[in-house]
Amino acid sequence: MGDAKRRRAEIERLKSLSPQDAAAWRQEQEDERYLRAGIDPKATITDPSAVIAMARRLHDKFEQAKAEQNVDAAVHYLYQKIDATLHSLREIPVACGKGCSHCCIISVTVSAPEAFYVGKLVAAMGAEAIAKVRAAHDVTRQFDLSERDQHPHDCPMLRNNACTIYEHRPKACRQAASTDALACARSHRELTNEQIPSPAAYIGSRTAYAMALYAALSQSGLPDTAYEFNAALVRVLDTPDGEARWLAGEDIFAGVPREPPTPRVYAERIDFIRRQAFAE
Ligand code: SF4
Repeated sequence: MGDAKRRRAEIERLKSLSPQDAAAWRQEQEDERYLRAGIDPKATITDPSAVIAMARRLHDKFEQAKAEQNVDAAVHYLYQKIDATLHSLREIPVACGKGCSHCCIISVTVSAPEAFYVGKLVAAMGAEAIAKVRAAHDVTRQFDLSERDQHPHDCPMLRNNACTIYEHRPKACRQAASTDALACARSHRELTNEQIPSPAAYIGSRTAYAMALYAALSQSGLPDTAYEFNAALVRVLDTPDGEARWLAGEDIFAGVPREPPTPRVYAERIDFIRRQAFAE
């Protein structure tokens, strides 16, 4: 079909929409305009519109995931927008780069959709990758999330100081950034537990996407929390139909270590985003 024919077909399709579907379509177009280059973390300080737009778009994706019993499109969308934001921050100097893996030995937490997404990748990678996840979990399961960083252990996705799932790495890894690799080495390997310096824009980006993600999950009636990576992966690998069951409302991650409850100030901001996004 040529471009002109395709445009005409699209116009006819839009004309046939119900008023409700037409309003949803206009909202989607407007939200996508806000998110063309991902969320701009500097702009969110005074204007939460992009975070609100992201929450709405992710909510749509989670509703689609429920219908399809598959979270992949939602996770792809989240990572694509985060990558667009990171691209816009590329002039800000950071010390992170290929071969630096100091932060790949401490705790990582992931949302449930990300656990399913990576779990499927691990299953597809085969027996060796699955065994590596189980072996890592056997070590890290001894520690609470709060004490895990004092017991460094290689992430099971790490090989030769590089991430084997780099293009698909979790949100937490994607948005990690340090301006001082030596501080990372001291803190994570020598256990000095010092603060890792990170550019304000990266910190703002982490907060913005977390708020949008949690607002969307909660609006979809799904748990708005994050789980210890290794334990969550093992739970996914060990739970037949886990993804469909979780999307249907079953808490298949019961007992998996999860982040402590969101501090009140963030919970209030997430609730604000949710009310704005869904006009409650
Ligand atoms: S998933 Fe990849 S980037 Fe994240 S901690 Fe593991 S090895 Fe590092």
